Amino acid sequence: MEVGMTESPRFVLEPERQVPIFGDYEVVVLGGGPAGIAAAAAAAMHGRKTLLLERYGFLGGMGTAAGVTNFYGLYANVRGEIRRVVHGITADLLARIDRLGGLNAPHMVRGRTMAQAYDTAAYKCAADDLLLENGVDILFHALAVGVTMGPNRTIDALLIETKSGRRAVLGRVFVDCSGDADLAAWAGAPFETGVGETLCPTMMFRVNGVDPAAAGDAWRTIGRRMAEAKSRGTPMPGTHAIVRPQRNPIEWRVCVTRVQNQDGRAADGTNAIEFSAGEIEGRKQARAFFEFLRRDVPGFSHSYIVDLPPQLGIRETRRIVGEYRLSEDDVITCASFDDTVGAGALPLDNPIAGETRWNWPDIASSRGFYHLPYRMLLPQGVRNLLVAGRCASLTHEGQVAARASGSCFVMGQAAGSAAHLALKDGKDPRDVAPELLQAVLEADGAYLGRGQDAEAGRGQSEKPERDATLEVSTLGVLD
Ligand SMILES: Cc1cc2nc3c(=O)[nH]c(=O)nc-3n(C[C@H](O)[C@H](O)[C@H](O)COP(=O)(O)OP(=O)(O)OC[C@H]3O[C@@H](n4cnc5c(N)ncnc54)[C@H](O)[C@@H]3O)c2cc1C
Repeated sequence: MEVGMTESPRFVLEPERQVPIFGDYEVVVLGGGPAGIAAAAAAAMHGRKTLLLERYGFLGGMGTAAGVTNFYGLYANVRGEIRRVVHGITADLLARIDRLGGLNAPHMVRGRTMAQAYDTAAYKCAADDLLLENGVDILFHALAVGVTMGPNRTIDALLIETKSGRRAVLGRVFVDCSGDADLAAWAGAPFETGVGETLCPTMMFRVNGVDPAAAGDAWRTIGRRMAEAKSRGTPMPGTHAIVRPQRNPIEWRVCVTRVQNQDGRAADGTNAIEFSAGEIEGRKQARAFFEFLRRDVPGFSHSYIVDLPPQLGIRETRRIVGEYRLSEDDVITCASFDDTVGAGALPLDNPIAGETRWNWPDIASSRGFYHLPYRMLLPQGVRNLLVAGRCASLTHEGQVAARASGSCFVMGQAAGSAAHLALKDGKDPRDVAPELLQAVLEADGAYLGRGQDAEAGRGQSEKPERDATLEVSTLGVLD
């Protein structure tokens, strides 16, 4: 991707001004993706005065704004048996999407686990209902732009830009679910970017008017057809694609584009110029791939692009360096933690050099999920902040796995519940006793991956030798 513009190194001085206070909240959640939805619902469910701020006019995060339309990380392969391991608030949300007619039956992925597709309209509406019924205040079209700090490394207010002008939101506990750790970064919490191979952004798209009978199981044959087209001279963004039906079988989602800079680096979702240029490049690649679909893939000849989503899909930007960083080893060894807040179920699916390298725990002998520890949500250096979702404390490889929507929901519910407990006992989130948090989560229907299943889990201090199955797939990222 060619990036035409460069940023000017000059400055203007912005005059000091008084910023009106929008409101005074116990819990302020930034971002309405899976983590933010669950965090806000959890805090409000326990009676906390909660505000969720979102830059778009709808909830769902990458799941709707970037057209992902598929939940991963809800199911684990527990010694050969596929089980739902994410419950609690997520179960409520899924049931609401289902009642609106927008949830697919789970589908198998690589014969080893399951994912579940959904329609974005149903997800948006179900998430609205879930939050409103739990008493969350939602402010859409509110772009957070900075913080004001009080004494003792405490955030006083989050600054937002709205159509009514700039506003300040006062809060006692803040939960950063922005995906990019915007709030944590402004507050001075340490974070990391670009260590390892940063995951590439993708412009998802959906096509309508597919003939499902003629298309058959095109998701199995698409790699071969792409290779054939490439050998005939059609450029391809990679060697694989996710091409899968949605709830209505005439509508299919396509995940194939890879947005990189000219030097091969993934376009950076926190760099204004690269993010903007990436939108154009993503649409360009989507159009080119669609032409191939229509021309060369049975069932697609009368189809059309029904949706190019509001934004380029960003997989990875900032990850905070918190009290514990979930790592590749934790994923592959199905690690157990005393402060578990739930189960992470996606293995590693690392897109490397145009392929996707899946790295699974040994299915026959492992329980197929790892614990997500509470310490992942605790940033260093800021007292009244929790961070949940894809920007929590993860190594690059840990993020490859735990960025799945299922894990983000788990982290969100834990963060919102921890915010409630911190306020209840007048403590900082880091001083909330994990046992108390776990009791609240279990009472609210969450599954922490303990009990019978935990027997097969491997303790943090006694990790076995790595026993992973490495597999190079012809299928795509997260599918
Ligand atoms: C192309 C692609 C394919 C994927 N495929 C799958 C898949 O098949 N299955 C799966 O489970 N996962 C998939 N993922 C991963 C998954 O969608 C994300 O990791 C997950 O949505 C992260 O959730 P989150 O809540 O942490 O953050 P996000 O979903 O990124 O949500 C963050 C929210 O915060 C808002 N926000 C950010 N900054 C600000 C700000 N400054 N002010 C106001 N609002 C702000 C954003 O608008 C957004 O709504 C995919 C991701 C991509 C990009």
